[in-house]
Order: sequence, then C-alpha cells, then structure tokens
Amino acid sequence: MSEIDSPQAATIPRTRRAHDRSRYPRLARELATIRAMVRIHCHDRHGQYAGLCTNCQRLMDYATRRLDRCVFGNDKPTCANCKVHCYNAEMREEIRAVMRYAGPRMIWRHPVLALRHVIDGGREARELRRKQGP
Ligand code: SF4
Ligand SMILES: [Zn+2]
Repeated sequence: MSEIDSPQAATIPRTRRAHDRSRYPRLARELATIRAMVRIHCHDRHGQYAGLCTNCQRLMDYATRRLDRCVFGNDKPTCANCKVHCYNAEMREEIRAVMRYAGPRMIWRHPVLALRHVIDGGREARELRRKQGP
C-alpha cells in the first residue's frame, strides 16, 4: 500500500489536486515525499510513534495546501529548487528543519521516494530554465 492510499492518509482532508494521483502524479509524489519526511522528523525528534504531533500535522496541512495551489502543477520543481517559494517565512523555516533532518535519512527509510526526489530535482529544474526563455 502506498503512502497516499494508507488509512492514515485518508484522515487528511482531501485537496483538489495533490491527492489526485492519476491527473497530477508529480504533485502526488511530492506529497508522499513530504509526508514521509515529516513523519521521520516527528517520530525521531518529537517521539511521535503513530501519526503526527499537532505542530507537524499543522505543517503537513499547510504543505498540502501549498502543493495543491502550486503554480507549476505537474511541472513543479522540487520546492528546494523553486524560485517562487510560496511558503510563508515561519513555515519555510519549519519545512527546512524537517528536510535538513529527514533528507539524509530518506535513502534508508524510503529509498524509492528518495531516488525519485533526486531525479525530479534535476529534471524539473532543467524544464523550468527552458520555460523561462532565452
Ligand atoms: S515552493 Fe514552489 S514548487 Fe513548492 S509548492 Fe510553492 S510554488 Fe510550488
Ligand atoms: Zn512532530
């Protein structure tokens, strides 16, 4: 069962695009990656063994809303490579802390997602540069 289909994911309010894997596979994959990172961080740093603590759930809900409204849609870069940076300052700092901690651990705990994230980062950045014109 994938992250997106898990019973726990069903408790997260459905959004317009990020949960629609058939039409927005890139957004759905990014949602799964962010969720995996937030879970690693919450488990290890906040001692949360099932689900997320209140603060991490708030961050996850915020990140899901940002993904749902991402101006790039299926062409989105990784958020770390984004020139728009749609997160507010507080949430950007929180998600950076999560990624700093969980990023290096993803390769051991979610190797497929980690590899796809690396591939998405390189490929999407090139596509964005081309779209930005000469
Ligand atoms: S930071 Fe950039 S890539 Fe990430 S959701 Fe916002 S606009 Fe999209
Ligand atoms: Zn937490």
